[in-house]
Amino acid sequence: MFPLQKITSTLVSLLFFTSAVAQLQLVVNGQPVEGLNTTLVPGTSYAPAQGYAEALGATFTFDAANKLASFSMAGKIARLAVFTNPDDAAAAEIALRLDHQAQSSSGGIEVGGQIFVPVKPIALAFSGQVAFLPEQNQVAVVLPRATIEDAETHQTQGFERFTFDLTAQVPYTSFYNAALNTLQVRFERTDIARARSFQGRRYLRADLIPGSGHTDFRIQLSPETDYRLYATPNPRGYRLTVDLFVKAVVEAPSGNQITVVIDPGHGGEDSGLILPEFGTEGGLTLAFAQDLAAAFQARGADVTLTRRDDSNPSLENRSGRGVGVDLFLSIHAAELPRGQYNIYYLDEAELVHDLDLALRENAETALESPATNQLRRQLLLRLIPDLTLGRRYAQGLSAELFQARGYRSNDPIGAPLYILSGSAGRGLLMELSPADLDDSELAPVLAATLLTVLERGGF
Ligand SMILES: [Zn+2]
Repeated sequence: MFPLQKITSTLVSLLFFTSAVAQLQLVVNGQPVEGLNTTLVPGTSYAPAQGYAEALGATFTFDAANKLASFSMAGKIARLAVFTNPDDAAAAEIALRLDHQAQSSSGGIEVGGQIFVPVKPIALAFSGQVAFLPEQNQVAVVLPRATIEDAETHQTQGFERFTFDLTAQVPYTSFYNAALNTLQVRFERTDIARARSFQGRRYLRADLIPGSGHTDFRIQLSPETDYRLYATPNPRGYRLTVDLFVKAVVEAPSGNQITVVIDPGHGGEDSGLILPEFGTEGGLTLAFAQDLAAAFQARGADVTLTRRDDSNPSLENRSGRGVGVDLFLSIHAAELPRGQYNIYYLDEAELVHDLDLALRENAETALESPATNQLRRQLLLRLIPDLTLGRRYAQGLSAELFQARGYRSNDPIGAPLYILSGSAGRGLLMELSPADLDDSELAPVLAATLLTVLERGGF
């Protein structure tokens, strides 16, 4: 039995609601967005995803196979489960995942091929504020403005890096003009205290220029200089990194001199493992790295070491040497029998075992430190370029070393190793047996094999 009285009153209130809804409008940063809907899930404001994303300055994509709507802005990604039945969408209480963390939100709804998303959780995901303004009959979304708090340049052999720390999540766009060899990055809704110019070697000039409502970064690149840029979210906003490096080195290793950086693990006060008969890991890796460098040089490669003596450069210093090179190889020892080794490349860890290793090799920063967390986030968000190359290099090396001399490796493992973050997909970490590190046979075989693998582009 259903009381007739109830139905009538529901109908009346629905009719009233619908007529009021017809005029209710969504306004994002003062800009109207068409198509606000409060009837799909009564009492909840839903907006057409595409138009809403454009107004927010976010990029919207819909993965139809997995029914996932994604909004991304400056390295931050919000993913929303999408339903065809509004009741299912309303019942899904934590349908939003923000950087892989579940958030309170109803689901998205697919209606006639169009995706609708709940206004409020998406706005909150990008630090926006939402208010219902009854007098204007508006749902108003206001997104924060950012300030560029810190702009820095770092110069190291072969590359230069700019970092911009923004205090809020705001969109940026980049535009490269090939004819003029200029790169422009526009930070929307971003302020800066004053204009700034930078001096460097890989560019003719670079300026940070305040505009009306935005800030531009313009850079006139030197000939043969290439760039990559990526955003890394932080608790408040994000960091945008712009790396400049010599075009030829990154694009076409074959035919040019291959650049290699070898990182002998540990050193100084950090002796690493104590290995009976072989001394310390730090001493063993240094001696081996020197042999390996000579073997690479003999084959025409340009080689540098992250340390040449019993010192212990910081992880950041070591890792930074890997930016823009063809190969960054970090050498460690492990208690393995002769002829066996472990190999790792940079990736998000999927096995507990990998995290153990990450903890061990990241001892200086520990996994909970901001640097490693940031790396984990970058990896989760797939923001580090060339990652697939690392796996191919590791697999190629594993196959070739076995064929050449019967050396056996584990299945190459992806792990969030901070030491490899500078070189990204061009970095490998090897754990070798003490007996092999101490043997003069391995270095020339390893150098020759790695050069073959690099020329082939991996496996
Ligand atoms: Zn080690």
